[in-house]
Amino acid sequence: MSKTASREIRLASRPNGLPTAANFTLARTELPPLQNRQVLVRNLFMSVDPYMRGRMNDRKSYVPPFELGQPLDGGAVGEVVASRAREFKPGDAVISNFGWREFFAASPKELRLVSREVQPLSVYLGALGMTGMTAWVGLNLVEVKAGDVVFISGAAGAVGNVAGQLAKLRGCRVIGSAGSMEKVLFLREECGFDIAFDYTVGPVLEQLNLEAPDGIDVYFDNVGGETLEAALSALRVHGRIIACGSISGYNEEKPRPGPSNLFNIITKRLTMKGLIVRDWLDRQGEFEKEVGGYFRAGKLKNKETVVEGIDQAVGAFIGLFHGHNVGKMVVKLA
Ligand code: NDP
Repeated sequence: MSKTASREIRLASRPNGLPTAANFTLARTELPPLQNRQVLVRNLFMSVDPYMRGRMNDRKSYVPPFELGQPLDGGAVGEVVASRAREFKPGDAVISNFGWREFFAASPKELRLVSREVQPLSVYLGALGMTGMTAWVGLNLVEVKAGDVVFISGAAGAVGNVAGQLAKLRGCRVIGSAGSMEKVLFLREECGFDIAFDYTVGPVLEQLNLEAPDGIDVYFDNVGGETLEAALSALRVHGRIIACGSISGYNEEKPRPGPSNLFNIITKRLTMKGLIVRDWLDRQGEFEKEVGGYFRAGKLKNKETVVEGIDQAVGAFIGLFHGHNVGKMVVKLA
């Protein structure tokens, strides 16, 4: 079998603050002929995610840092073009962690077969993928139930919009914050949020107090910073916080001081639970059954912003920090 030409994005230097295009290179490479027990995959869509920013620092965390000069990795959905392993055949749709490249060869255990009947296949990176599962896990973690008033930040993003839709399906009253009027309208008109506001037009606490004068039961935190501080003030006694992400601080060069009102955790007997979605992989079947069922029944929308071409992937990634996406940001590669 002949060699396969591919392109991939490599980390050229570690960003200081907000990443720029200069931190990355687009390289051409040739994959050697396929070996026995290998599968050749062409990526159709790849994911760009805020957590990847942390992996660009030379700091140990729950995932290892990306290596300089090496291709980045991350979630992707592709199709098998050739196989020397009996588990897969050409045409199969598979998900993997080999994003940021056009083609790759992998062993069967590095791939997961998904149904081609679900369209678009990019849904496996969004509502039915890692971000949708994060939303589902977060709600389960603090036992969100009918009647809860749930406030979600980063609400128009990949995790946030699914968390809001799932909370509505559970019978909650749902409030979301997002960074533009277009996103506010999306939350209200397409995702069924009861209330949504634009956090850029005024202090978050003022807007939250106006929209939820009796307080909130649950805060789903995707952004940290000022919004977390506002939520700590707005939470009722025995309120719960899902600590999912803190994107407002991901590009800061020095650690930022914590919320000034953390003492609310004591006075209001609050619970704050952190989550890392990969700890929950043994619940994937349950997630797919429940959330996949909603999707197939038309009860759950998979909103996405699609950018085309591997040469646009870095811009799509940086765009996450400028709010360029509504729903899941994905890059279409083929
Ligand atoms: P999103 O699709 O929400 O994209 C990022 C969004 O964040 C942007 O669209 C923007 O929306 C918002 N944003 C960017 N900068 C800021 C800022 N300074 N202040 C407030 N909002 C900002 O990403 P995901 O849904 O994939 O991720 C959401 C959060 O969940 C992230 O913090 C991520 O790290 C976390 N996460 C955690 C996981 C876990 O296992 N714990 C797994 C997956 C994600 P806007 O226009 O509204 O500002």
